[in-house]
Amino acid sequence: MAKSYYDTDQIYEQPSVYKLQSNADETIRKARTRGKTLHPVKVAARGPIARSWWGKAWCDNLERYADYDSRLERGKRYLRTGTVVDLDIQKGHVKAKVQGRRKSPYNVEIRISPVNEDKLQRIMSLCSKRIESLDTLLKGKFPKELQEVFLGDDGLFPTPWEISLNCSCPDWAIMCKHVSAALYGIAVRFDEDPLLFFELRGIDVDRFVDVTLENSVESMLRNVNVKSDRIIADKDWKRIFG
Ligand SMILES: [Zn+2]
Repeated sequence: MAKSYYDTDQIYEQPSVYKLQSNADETIRKARTRGKTLHPVKVAARGPIARSWWGKAWCDNLERYADYDSRLERGKRYLRTGTVVDLDIQKGHVKAKVQGRRKSPYNVEIRISPVNEDKLQRIMSLCSKRIESLDTLLKGKFPKELQEVFLGDDGLFPTPWEISLNCSCPDWAIMCKHVSAALYGIAVRFDEDPLLFFELRGIDVDRFVDVTLENSVESMLRNVNVKSDRIIADKDWKRIFG
């Protein structure tokens, strides 16, 4: 029977957890002797992959798309094994080294298109109406009031068609377990520093805050004017009837 698109890596013998872990340790050690420090992603063997709102929302977003489903579980297990020996988040892309059956790790590259300006403007304007929440947000917590703005179909989390995936392994599937492990690794990084989310989505946090505050001040001033108009109206009323 012909193998389906998604079964391609079944033809390889699955490496044992012990083998994967010793390969990973060796990779980290070798890099160190060359003066390079790798930053492995560490996750507990049990329990949730991510604990913060940001990390959890990232995982939920991945799992929203059924196309990815079959590969995601395997990637999660792979990550827990300690195979993501390095992961670096930059503007619009993630580079990771994921240990597999070979001695040298596979190179994973994930590209995410930046949030377009229209969407960003809309989100900044919604945030400016919830300005107290922004302070909480920058302290690394995720205020409930902003969840609907960020999540949702038109929020800041990427859709599959905004994500491109690449791995140097011989698996033909678009999402091999290395890519999938790296995708979950991103969630762990968001636990450590939620501002990395903005970095990845190509959003300048300083600008985001400045514009949001500006919008908010403008709207406050508009309200002040409305109020003073009403006061004058009251005076007029007294003059007329007083
Ligand atoms: Zn791969």
